[in-house]
Amino acid sequence: MSAINRGHAASGWGDSASQLQTITRRISGISAVFTMVAAVLNPGPHWASIVALSLAYTLYNLILSWRRSKPQLGELAVNLILCAGLTLAGALYSNVLYHLLLIRMVLKVGRDRAMRMATAISLVYVAANIIRADAMAVAFLLETIYNVIGFAVLSITAVHMHNVMETQLQHEGQIAELKRQNAHHYAMAHTDGLTGLLNHRAYLEKTADVAQYVLLIIDIDHFKKLNDAHGHLFGDQVLTTVGNIIKVGIRSKDLAFRYGGEEFALVLPGTSLELGLKIAERLRYQVGNCEFFHNGDPVKITISIGVSCKNPSVACQDAFREADNALYRAKKQGRNRCVVFK
Ligand code: GH3
Ligand code: MG
Ligand code: MG
Repeated sequence: MSAINRGHAASGWGDSASQLQTITRRISGISAVFTMVAAVLNPGPHWASIVALSLAYTLYNLILSWRRSKPQLGELAVNLILCAGLTLAGALYSNVLYHLLLIRMVLKVGRDRAMRMATAISLVYVAANIIRADAMAVAFLLETIYNVIGFAVLSITAVHMHNVMETQLQHEGQIAELKRQNAHHYAMAHTDGLTGLLNHRAYLEKTADVAQYVLLIIDIDHFKKLNDAHGHLFGDQVLTTVGNIIKVGIRSKDLAFRYGGEEFALVLPGTSLELGLKIAERLRYQVGNCEFFHNGDPVKITISIGVSCKNPSVACQDAFREADNALYRAKKQGRNRCVVFK
């Protein structure tokens, strides 16, 4: 586990799946280069067939090591056949290739299939050795037993590596799920349930590091009377509709909040006070001309808006206080109007 983690951290590989691909590619490349060097240094009695098989093995595995594809059982079968051919031709290093092949297999095809393949490899190896051997000499038997034990040890090591990889993949899956849940909870904690706008908590967090914006505090006029006259359910519908009017009219960089009760805040970054006032007037016009009905009777809804400008030299709370102050003046002057803080 620690070796794999070290590799991960040091090389900056991606997730466990791509680590697995990288390891198998490297094993393919190493075994291919090893085969060619061994074929040249120690060609054996059937020189031509050994070099030809080694060349085929090398080219095939070098292509595999460069290709970024999903694991294939077929490519392992091809390797197995080439290795069996090398054993039959008397290449002394063919058992090493079996070992490397085994590791690749366990990493690529998974534990259960790999164990079945490992058994097949051992049988092919023993069979190829028996066909090749002149006699059942003690030395030959010892070599075969030694190599079969080698297969077993390598199988266990490779299976362990596979288990570690699998556990790591599971952890990555769990971490991804936790991140998804976290994002969901964050969104829930920052969204107003009635209007779907950002809420008061989000206002405090999101405006904290915006240097410049125009702030609109929007308040529905005589909302208490509206509730008293038509009921809270109708009041809720009005809040939702006003929220929608605000939502659809803003740019992607603007932020709309339900600040509390029947008050909304609109943050317009990179906007002049002049443009901010135009946007406020447009909103006031849209709400004032929106047709609300209660039990078939038309109901007139108006809003008042206080406008202020937040500059780098002005604190967030001061910008809010100024917009609130302007809103208070709008109410005092008769409501259904926009007032800029001066
Ligand atoms: P003004 O024009 O001065 O703003 O008067 P107002 O009546 O709108 O303001 P006031 O602050 O007196 O009353 C606000 C009302 O908003 C009181 C409260 O019952 C109502 N309200 C707050 N939140 C909700 C809500 O979620 N749904 C409904 N239906 N009413 C709400
Ligand atoms: Mg009000
Ligand atoms: Mg109010």
